[in-house]
Order: sequence, then structure tokens, then C-alpha cells
Amino acid sequence: MKISLKETAAKLLSADSLVITSHVNPDGDALGSSLALYQMMIRLGKRAELLIDDDIPEAFSFLPDIAAIKKPEAESYDADLLVMLDVSRDRIGRVAEKCRAPILNIDHHITNDGEADFLYLDAGRAATAEIVYQLARELAVEPDEAVAMCIYTGISTDTGNFKFSNTTPFTMRAAADMLEAGAKAHIVSEALEQRSYQEVMDKAKAMQTIELAFDGRVAGIYIDNALYETIGSTEGFIDTVRIIAGVDAAVLVKEVEAGRCRISMRSKGMDVSRIAAAFQGGGHIRAAGCSIEKPLAEAKEMLLQEIGKAL
Ligand code: 5GP
Ligand code: MN
Repeated sequence: MKISLKETAAKLLSADSLVITSHVNPDGDALGSSLALYQMMIRLGKRAELLIDDDIPEAFSFLPDIAAIKKPEAESYDADLLVMLDVSRDRIGRVAEKCRAPILNIDHHITNDGEADFLYLDAGRAATAEIVYQLARELAVEPDEAVAMCIYTGISTDTGNFKFSNTTPFTMRAAADMLEAGAKAHIVSEALEQRSYQEVMDKAKAMQTIELAFDGRVAGIYIDNALYETIGSTEGFIDTVRIIAGVDAAVLVKEVEAGRCRISMRSKGMDVSRIAAAFQGGGHIRAAGCSIEKPLAEAKEMLLQEIGKAL
């Protein structure tokens, strides 16, 4: 059932105990929005648990309270409410089976599947953290420095540091409020931009695989399993092909296991969320992802074929 922002706040206020979760492969918005909501709930005197079924990337260790995030290792979790942020139910991993509480889903993904008891979806918001910012007002919680840092991080990461087309006047006002409340922009950007020497060298290898397709309208990085095994994070690789002149869609295909590929897509015009949805993935018009259970060459072929139809 779709509910309003006010009703969302009321649901949060009427719960005594909450489990808060977000998607596997967590990014700055997943972590920032769930940490901010977690901290606000604790301040409102609630029992809250923050569960994410994945490793937390080292780069986010600057986020206040990041150590509060646990993997769902217990047998089961009792709560009045399961709050899913920045995600649909299919990407929360084992939290889905282990916490059977009524689900309150707060999200900004246009591809949200609606599998929740209560859904607050605003696809016009650049980040789920923008919604958490609005909720702070509804809940009458004044963001402190920690909450501000988390909300700012979520907004900053999902807008490509205030560069993508989803950046609105609202985005800037929310971010400005968070700076006023104590968020430090340079700490966020320095922590998230930093790469190890090894990561820079890995990126150099991955860039050797760049190929153009459809007269240069599509650019891709194609990492087979052998190469994938030698490299660590691929964070930010796709941005290097996205900026090539004439490119509309940028893709990163990586064979994370033999016969299984993870796909990331970015675009300047075409709707890549529809391409992702064709492979049971999802995301936004200009940033989306999916998996294809095929070796690299086949996955690449299938993906390019789907993109070709959309061009
Ligand atoms: P990224 O390329 O950064 O992993 O993901 C870009 C966007 O697509 C994010 O908003 C993310 O939530 C969404 N996305 C990535 N992979 C998947 C997927 O497998 N399923 C769904 N539903 N969304 C995805
Ligand atoms: Mn997001």
C-alpha cells in the first residue's frame, strides 16, 4: 500500500522496535540513509537494529556509527517494523527471511517492485537520503552532526557529487542544511575519491578492455573472470567511459564468477533502467544494474543487443 510522508513518519513513531536494512552491495545512499534513520530512531528512544547482508566497503569507515551495522547472523529478528531503505525486498539478502515484521519501504527507485506492506516511493528525489532529510522534519528531529554527515553522504554519492541530472534545487537546499548542521563536504569527498596505488593500477588494466559500439554511442568495459580475480574494487571505473564524447550509454560488464556477470550502466539520455529490467535488474533512468548468468562474451552480446533495440 502506498502511503504519504506523514503516514511514513507516523509508522516510524508508532513502532517501539525496528529493524532497518538496505541493499546488498551497499553504496553511500544505502549506508547514509539507513545510518541517519537509525540514529534518529535511537534518539527517539526506540530499539533499533541496523542489518545489511554484505561487507561494508572500507571507504565508508568515516561515517558516524558505521560499526552499528551488523550482518544478519542471528536465527531471527523480532521487531514491530522492518524498514527497507533505498531498495526493494529482493535485494536485502537474508534479512528478508530472518525478519518477518511488517515492511515499511522508503525508496526513490522508479523500478521499486512494491513488495511491501507500506511503501513511500518518491522517484523525484535524487537519493533516499533526501527522503530521510524530509522525514527528520516530520519526526521533529533536528539533525545533529552525525545525522547530517550521513544524509549529506547519501545525497552526494547518488548525485555524483551534485553533477548528475537528478540534482535539483531541493538537493542543494537539503545539502546546504546538512552543511549547516555540521556535515563536512571535504571529508566525504576525500574519503570516497581516495584509491590505493593497487586500485589505480587495476583500473589501468581494466581500461585496456574499453570498446565502442553503435558508432561510438555505447562504450563498455569488459572484465572477464580471469581479470576480475586479479582486481579489487571496480568502483568508479564506469565514469571513465561515461565521459567519452559521443557516448550515450556506458556499461561495465564484469564476470564475477565463471559464467555469471554483473552489469552497471550509466547514460546521458536513454533509459537504462529498462535495459536492466529486461534482465530482472533495475535502477534509475540514468544509472541502473543487473546480473546475467552467462560467460562474459555471451552476456556482452545479450546486453548490446538489448541496448541496440533501445537506441
Ligand atoms: P551500480 O551500477 O552503481 O551498481 O547501480 C546503479 C543503480 O542501479 C543503483 O541505483 C542500484 O540500486 C541499481 N541496481 C544495480 N544493480 C541492480 C540490480 O541487480 N537490481 C536492481 N533492482 N537494481 C540494481
Ligand atoms: Mn539511492
